[in-house]
Amino acid sequence: KLFNEMQELKGNIRVYCRVRPFLPGQDKKSTTVDYIGESGELLISNPFKQGKDGHRMFKFNKVFSSFASQADVYSDIQPLIRSVLDGFNVCIFAYGQTGSGKTYTMSGPSMSKKDWGVNYRALNDLFDISLSRRNVFSYEVGVQMVEIYNEQVRDLLSNNIAQKRLGIWNTSQPNGLVVPDASLHPVKSTSDVLDLMEIGLANRAVGSTALNERSSRSHSILTVHVRGLDVKNGSTSRGCLHLIDLAGSERVERSEATGDRLKEAQHINKSLSALGDVIFALAQKNAHVPYRNSKLTQVLQSSLGGQAKTLMFVQINPDVESYSETISTLKFAERVS
Ligand code: ADP
Ligand code: MG
Repeated sequence: KLFNEMQELKGNIRVYCRVRPFLPGQDKKSTTVDYIGESGELLISNPFKQGKDGHRMFKFNKVFSSFASQADVYSDIQPLIRSVLDGFNVCIFAYGQTGSGKTYTMSGPSMSKKDWGVNYRALNDLFDISLSRRNVFSYEVGVQMVEIYNEQVRDLLSNNIAQKRLGIWNTSQPNGLVVPDASLHPVKSTSDVLDLMEIGLANRAVGSTALNERSSRSHSILTVHVRGLDVKNGSTSRGCLHLIDLAGSERVERSEATGDRLKEAQHINKSLSALGDVIFALAQKNAHVPYRNSKLTQVLQSSLGGQAKTLMFVQINPDVESYSETISTLKFAERVS
């Protein structure tokens, strides 16, 4: 009950933190994660300081330890998917430095079912629930996949190369919903979506030396549009689900980055702070929400705030070497939660 009241106050924003396990070969003793509480507490120790200044406590809606499975992490999300079918807009983000497990959480390490990330589990539920309601509602589902790189939106599912770079990024629908002006592909099952995602991922790699490099510097957004028709009275509802793997949040030393790398870093920095500002303004119930400061917040405008529901996964790497990035990631999350 308290949690529900909290949700009301916070404008439907939930923040979950997930700690990535050490990878084979990393020294397990050098962790910054001291303690994880049942109610979302996370105690981080500063490897460079002793005593009472050597610790910092954070609090989120939930914290998943490095032992949490993909199923554990997803276990609370089904109601959000249900609400998409009820006509609400939902955004699920993964935020964190490169290597902290964003893609692992959203997509998973393999296509085997136990490894499935949030994306596949959400889609699977979406289709399952829509089938279970088929006597009452008939649903149409369409998918878009875009990438935002250096403040440019690219359609990852367009066959037409010239159209891949979108000049206009939003189209107003008659019902007031704003959607990215990218190709929309009808789908009937999770496997249809998986096929599209494969195409999208292949398109994402075009023009970049290494997929991983590029993917850590761009935001990728999978948008699932759902239109429900009430078979008895003919009324319709529309909801959409955005699944977002954000660009790496690491700060780049000015001295280290030059040219393209510096430009990329500035664009990422700008859009992630714009996202933080929007979510912060929504959590504070501010009258003015600064959506227009980045392409990311423009594309997501109709799905952030209002009746929309937002879930952010804050990913951290427990290694002491990541200490300062971890603190800055957690501060970002603390501000919006
Ligand atoms: P990011 O997308 O944030 O750059 P990745 O998801 O690619 O990070 O994760 C970095 C590495 O850590 C990958 O090798 C990934 O498989 C591994 N990893 C991340 N999270 C987990 C986890 N929860 N369990 C096991 N391995 C993980
Ligand atoms: Mg990634």
